[in-house]
Amino acid sequence: MKERLLEIFSRLYEKFGPQHWWPAETVDEIVIGAVLTQNTAWKNVEKALENLRNNGLLELKKLSETNVETIKELIKPAGFFNQKAIYLKNISDFFVKSGGLKELSHLDTKTLRQKLLNVKGIGKETADSILLYAFKRPIFVVDAYTRRLIERHKLCDCSSYDEVQKLFMENLPLDEKLFNEYHALIVKLAKEFCSKKPICNGCPLEGV
Ligand code: SF4
Repeated sequence: MKERLLEIFSRLYEKFGPQHWWPAETVDEIVIGAVLTQNTAWKNVEKALENLRNNGLLELKKLSETNVETIKELIKPAGFFNQKAIYLKNISDFFVKSGGLKELSHLDTKTLRQKLLNVKGIGKETADSILLYAFKRPIFVVDAYTRRLIERHKLCDCSSYDEVQKLFMENLPLDEKLFNEYHALIVKLAKEFCSKKPICNGCPLEGV
C-alpha cells in the first residue's frame, strides 16, 4: 500500500506540480478560511474573505470582538452564514482565550486536536486542516475528494474519517510537507479529472 500511495502522489505531483497551499497570507486567514470552506466551494469563500479583509476583520482577535450579526452579513457569500458566523466566533474566542497561536503551539498534536474538536462547529476535517496548514503538524486531512479517490481506486474498504486517515498516516512518512501537498493535489485532481463524473481518459491516475 505504501508504494501505491507514493505512486499516486508522484503521478499527481508530476502532472500538477506544487499547489502552494494553504491559499492565505496569515495563520488567522487559514483558520477563518478552514471554517468558511465547510460545505462550500472555495470561490464563495474568497468573496467572504474579501469582505472580512475590506472591513479589517480578517483576524481572530478582531472577530472575537465583533458582533455576530456583522459577521453574518460579511460572510454571506460562503453560505450557511448563520451557523458559520457562530462557529467563527467560537474558534476566535478559543484562540484568544488560549493565548493565540504562540501559546497553542506549545501543545502536542493530540492535545491540540482535542481542544480544537471541543470547539462547537469544528469537526475533524476542519480541525485537521487547521493543524496541518496553520500549525504545520503532520496530520492527513480527509475530505470528500479523498474518499472518492479511495473508493474509485479501491485503496481500502474503509469509509469512516478515522479509517481513511489511518490508511495514509500508517503507510506514509509522517511528513507535514508531504501531507500538505498530497491533500492539495487530491483537491486539484478532483477539480480537473475526478469530479462526480470522472474523466479517466488522460487522468494521471489512469491505471494506478
Ligand atoms: S478520473 Fe478516473 S483515473 Fe482519475 S482518479 Fe478519478 S477514477 Fe481514477
